Amino acid sequence: MLESIIAREIHEKGPLSQSRFMELALQHPLYGYYRSQESVGQDFTTSPEISQVFGELIGAWALDYYLKLNQPKEVSLIELGPGKGTLMADFLRTVRLSKFFSEATNVTLVEINPLLKAVQREAIKFPTTWVERLEDVPNHSCPLIILANEFFDALPCNCYTRKDNVLYERRVGIQEGKLIFTPIMLNESQGPDQTWEESPLAIILIHEICTRLLNQMGVFLCIDYGYKEGSGDSLQTLFKGEPSNPLAHIGRSDLTCHVNFGQLKEVALSRGLGTLGPLSQRQFLKTMGLDMRIEMLKRENPSQKTNLEVAATRLTHPQQMGTLFKVMAVFSPPTIKPAGFEE
Ligand code: SAH
Repeated sequence: MLESIIAREIHEKGPLSQSRFMELALQHPLYGYYRSQESVGQDFTTSPEISQVFGELIGAWALDYYLKLNQPKEVSLIELGPGKGTLMADFLRTVRLSKFFSEATNVTLVEINPLLKAVQREAIKFPTTWVERLEDVPNHSCPLIILANEFFDALPCNCYTRKDNVLYERRVGIQEGKLIFTPIMLNESQGPDQTWEESPLAIILIHEICTRLLNQMGVFLCIDYGYKEGSGDSLQTLFKGEPSNPLAHIGRSDLTCHVNFGQLKEVALSRGLGTLGPLSQRQFLKTMGLDMRIEMLKRENPSQKTNLEVAATRLTHPQQMGTLFKVMAVFSPPTIKPAGFEE
């Protein structure tokens, strides 16, 4: 179905940019992957699903920030793309350790998949508001804590290549009735030969986050796989857990690109916010006390010893999620620094 919608748009307008193709494949109101999956995690496993410790440590990180803010009476906690709600459920268990923090916290989840709302409600068991876009969250005057784990990588992005001082963009066209990737020559462009990606939606979103943090103060924690700087083509497709062709199984496979943290950081700095990271997930979780928490859980549940150790390794090992996954914080005012980034 999505194939024919995409083909029609190509016939009308010519080859689609990669980001428009991804937007239709992932977000089409009826058939987009992120609108129609009854759950997440069939195609990929995220950190909160590996261990409760992940959400708990982010809860501890937020509690530290709340204390640094001098325990305001109200805090707005927003999660972008909460999936099954696991991170938030584990996070809130830590929040409940502080009476002040738990009474001050309002939870808003930004989620486009209507089918996931019930899953999230069941997991979280906390008064919650749902919206489809960050823009729909009403402006309050209270400080904000915004979380995003594996959210930015789901945002559509474009892919450009400069070769021999000519700029090309990867588009999606049709050849003999089949969707194909095709490079389109844009213009002359001086510079070294290279390939890079840009996500227009990620840039709009980080600007929106910065505006809100500047108006209300607070912090944004972004965790995702990505790079600080660099170039390349990182479009990946997973279908039933296996790498697949992005132009096959449209709407039924997950499309992602690595997050260009350098670009997000540049926007935040240009808007006058404080930033820390990107730092490896390994270093962030270890600084936040992962090893201690795992030891504690092992003592409480000796039968789970091996599972706990395997989970900790998956989250932190350089060859698993430890290094490719990065953590970055953006905050306002820049003087109130969140924990976890100490060298
Ligand atoms: N954060 C979760 C899930 C990651 S998968 C975890 O770590 O397990 C991406 C999540 O973002 C899903 O819940 C998906 O439905 C949601 N999502 C994807 N694109 C979105 C968009 N443009 N707006 C809002 N939610 C989106």
